[in-house]
Amino acid sequence: MIVVESLEIHVSNHCNLSCRGCSHLTPLEKKCFMDINKTIQSLNLLKKSLHCKVIRLLGGEPTLNPDLAKIAEEIKKIGIADEISLPTNGVSLEKISDDVLKNLDMIEISNYNYSLEKSKKIYEWSQKVKEKYKIKIIIYMYQYFREPYSYQKNNDLELVQKIYKTCIVANKWQCYNVYENYIFKCPEAMALSKNIKGQSFEINGLKITDDVYFEKKLNNYLNNSQCLEACKYCLGTVGKQFLIEQVNKDKYMEYANTPIEELLDKDFLEECQNNDIGDLRTVKKVIEI
Ligand code: SF4
Ligand code: SF4
Repeated sequence: MIVVESLEIHVSNHCNLSCRGCSHLTPLEKKCFMDINKTIQSLNLLKKSLHCKVIRLLGGEPTLNPDLAKIAEEIKKIGIADEISLPTNGVSLEKISDDVLKNLDMIEISNYNYSLEKSKKIYEWSQKVKEKYKIKIIIYMYQYFREPYSYQKNNDLELVQKIYKTCIVANKWQCYNVYENYIFKCPEAMALSKNIKGQSFEINGLKITDDVYFEKKLNNYLNNSQCLEACKYCLGTVGKQFLIEQVNKDKYMEYANTPIEELLDKDFLEECQNNDIGDLRTVKKVIEI
């Protein structure tokens, strides 16, 4: 049995924010939800080979999915994870129903561009929910992101491999992602497969199947020291930092069309190669309720 830190499923492709540098390419997504039945089927197969400490129901913004309560209930029944977490941007906390909350172990709220008023609202809601449901609530205060991608392919294979080797998402956090019939090393590989011409789920992911060799194939896929094809368009966790801002699709693409070399934080890459950094350094403060 393979035991990993985390699995993610995208219960909503779209979001109620449109952040520049969203690492899941959400501002480019149509308003839609993945096929949850296919994903549940895949998780039922996957649990024969893999167990995770936490499964995250995210997106996009997961609270936009009207079937979230049913999804959380189904995921709990599968038993692939010790804990179920709901990461959210905290914009619509009051819309999270009791039926959703009763199936969660944790809520992770990303408080972007935090104002005093917004932070107070999040804090008060969190205290109320914690008291009633005994759910662990973590608030991340963010003001910065790192550049995530470039639509211009990086043909410097040595650099691609360096970016991959220092990528915290895949190598440390183990944010493995299940989307319908496929598992991915990271949500970025899934998102790039959907959005970049020539990339696909077959190229960057592993199809979840019921054959006897699946666990071996999964182990090889997750522990392969070679980068994915998607990594040629990705900055991993060493993109330049910038202040989070809300942008439209055109502005998002303007940045995404910049060459990798210009978006790369070369000093941070070097630092990550020499030390075990283990952090993006973009979270200002973490508050545990
Ligand atoms: S809140 Fe921002 S970063 Fe998070 S999914 Fe939405 S657009 Fe992306
Ligand atoms: S695509 Fe590659 S570099 Fe980007 S997050 Fe995934 S593993 Fe890391």
